[in-house]
Amino acid sequence: MLNERRNLLTAEQFAEVILNHLTSSQGKDPEHASIYDWRMALSLALRDQVIRPWFASTRTTYEAEAKRVYYLSMEFLVGRLIEDVATNLRAEDVAAAAMRSLGQDYGQVVRDEPDAALGNGGLGRLAACFMDSLATLGIPAYGYGIRYEHGLFEQHFKDGQQIETAENWLTQRYAWEFERPEVRYEIGFGGTVEKSGQTSKWIPAETIIASAYDTPVVGWNGLWANTLRLWAAKPVKVFDLDSFNRGEYLAASELEALARTISRVLYPDDTSEAGKELRLKQEYFFTAASIKDILRRLDSEGRVVRDLPQRVAIQLNDTHPAIAGPELVRLLVDERKLEMENAIDIARGCLGYTNHTLLPEALERWPEPIFKRVLPRHLEIVREIESAHLKASGSPVRILEDGDVKMGELSFIMAHKVNGVSALHSDLVRETVFEQLNRDYPDRILNQTNGITPRRWLHNCNPDLRILINDTIGTGWPADLEQLEKLVPHAQDAGFLEAFKAVKAKNKVRVANWLKSHHYIAVDPDAMFDAQIKRIHEYKRQLMNLLETVALWNEIRDNPNADWVPRVKIFGGKAAPGYVVAKQIIHLINDVAAVINADPQVKGLLKIVYPENYNVSMAELLIPATNLSEQISTAGNEASGTGNMKFALNGAPTIGTLDGANVEIRERVGAENFFLFGLTAAEVVERRKQQNYSAAAIAVSQRLSRALEQIENGVFSPGDPDRYQGLVQDLRQKDYFLVTCDFDDYFAAQRRVDSAYADQDSWTRMAVLNTARVGWFSSDRTIADYAKDIWNAHSLIGGARQPKGEVPR
Ligand SMILES: *Cc1c(COP(=O)(O)O)cnc(C)c1O
Repeated sequence: MLNERRNLLTAEQFAEVILNHLTSSQGKDPEHASIYDWRMALSLALRDQVIRPWFASTRTTYEAEAKRVYYLSMEFLVGRLIEDVATNLRAEDVAAAAMRSLGQDYGQVVRDEPDAALGNGGLGRLAACFMDSLATLGIPAYGYGIRYEHGLFEQHFKDGQQIETAENWLTQRYAWEFERPEVRYEIGFGGTVEKSGQTSKWIPAETIIASAYDTPVVGWNGLWANTLRLWAAKPVKVFDLDSFNRGEYLAASELEALARTISRVLYPDDTSEAGKELRLKQEYFFTAASIKDILRRLDSEGRVVRDLPQRVAIQLNDTHPAIAGPELVRLLVDERKLEMENAIDIARGCLGYTNHTLLPEALERWPEPIFKRVLPRHLEIVREIESAHLKASGSPVRILEDGDVKMGELSFIMAHKVNGVSALHSDLVRETVFEQLNRDYPDRILNQTNGITPRRWLHNCNPDLRILINDTIGTGWPADLEQLEKLVPHAQDAGFLEAFKAVKAKNKVRVANWLKSHHYIAVDPDAMFDAQIKRIHEYKRQLMNLLETVALWNEIRDNPNADWVPRVKIFGGKAAPGYVVAKQIIHLINDVAAVINADPQVKGLLKIVYPENYNVSMAELLIPATNLSEQISTAGNEASGTGNMKFALNGAPTIGTLDGANVEIRERVGAENFFLFGLTAAEVVERRKQQNYSAAAIAVSQRLSRALEQIENGVFSPGDPDRYQGLVQDLRQKDYFLVTCDFDDYFAAQRRVDSAYADQDSWTRMAVLNTARVGWFSSDRTIADYAKDIWNAHSLIGGARQPKGEVPR
């Protein structure tokens, strides 16, 4: 049954379902329904269509006694879902026609959905892409995370500076989820450990409830659906009537407020860990609930814990759920009476760990006193894990060191496989952070290069390119992205190039109109759109891009009659609220934009736009309209990047360093279709050993010196000329991320871009070859490889890359 796609409803039938939801679920008369009501009705009608594959998938999994994958992630950056669900069900035309017949504008209703922003950036978006691919491949899986009441903050600019306001996605009901009040677990914190003979028992001081909310995740063609289960924190006792009766009204609800704090907000930091107790509690909260849920499911299938590694694969998305190891060991030893070493082996048989960063400040460590206060029994178990590891391997590497619990080492030692997220990153994981552990356990580290779902990041976000590709190579590519290779010969076909260019031009007009209406800024859609959209971080070097912009401004003013290629520099991204330097960089981008955009001398040649509140939906709009993708991090710092893949897939060649997955993108698209510059990761390490490398680099670069002087002399902040003294001083004296060292090479690469862009035919050929050759970066490939190399999990819809080929419409 599962291999047969359900017969779709007709548009008339589907309109009927929508109307039923509008009246019965929303309680609205069509006469008085708002866009929100229509959106809810449409979403619920679509959700209805997911139920059948969802139930069937669960039944099939039970019948096959199949292994399940559990993807534990602190973040899921999902974005909107209407289009995603509609297209995966292959019901987009039916849904649009149904809405039209009801007098509604389908596109407008789709855009009314707020982004589910339960993540900061790449790591959370990766988890969301993986959920789409797990369902598309028909691998039984659950995503486990936190149902934050407030997702990533909303960014506004006030006088050029970032202001954060709370995001409120649950103000309106979330259409896609099912509340599961019956699925609830008690989660403890603090307290003491009671010993009696060989056995230990943790007596927590405080207990809260983890309550499940399930969102079905349907795969391509509606053949399979998995579950994203998010945990909300609730009080054990909702309300203290005694306090209330004494007139202590606030105290009466205090318990509730305190419990709910655990799932109140997403930590808005993408790289550094603050070491806050609440964060540790969040991590334990969702991990412990997930592990309890996994064991309950195992029990319900009549399995014993010895079977765990055959039945269960648990993937840790970074160290945030690292406590899964000790928690599973605790349950096996304290509650199910296994021997400690046996329990550790069983837990390790289930666990895999994905490392996402080499930045030392981003590797989680918990001060022992905090750890002990929150998780006293787990600290004991960490000691047991450490001594078992020391005994078995003779390794000198400890988990407990300098008064800290080191979560990277804990994750490594408790996982049977540890993976990096690009070839370069995995090499660096072997050579740097886990050098000794790699010697102790030589087969444990492997690479799994990240990927992106082609459904969201091409099929849905770039409808005109989708149609062009369908017309050229057929419709099999969304589930088998390497079929895009069939476009390669068409890169020699003038007609195809013309059509490809027309698609890009149309997408740029769409963005120009949006900038005009939403951000009150006019851009010329014929100019080159050059985009750097991602979190603001020193290592990503938005500052270098901005310095190049200032240098280009100078150059144009010096030679106003030269043949300049008109450019629009698009910036997008948020800074962590506590990251002072990143916020200064935002301020400077806006200050530079104000001056350059007002300068009549460069009008029509150079413009800077920085729309506020970059998120998934903005990415879906901007990426298809971009000509040039900026991937310019200091080599050795960007673990993989996934933005780089989205741009290349949508026909934007990269200007970039040899960092993260850029290396593999360049290998695939061809060096001649990639604008390379900058130091390599090895050269970065060497350069940092030199004295005064930044002063030396500035001294030999006229262009850079001039731009730096302008910034520090207040050319862009005339009312506050000293505003950027600190920022520039850091570049002069330290410049840890080597902005100054790569600047000249970057400037030169940008001029190569200018010349290449001036020849539009050859540029479009490059763009086509980027699209054609990056099919390998589909997250379907990534997930198929995790399933094979780490999870030993299998597709239940036959053949790892099913469904292949065309589906009759
Ligand atoms: C893909 C994506 C990212 C990751 O971008 P990188 O360039 O890889 O850092 C971050 N945020 C959003 C909204 C994304 O869609």
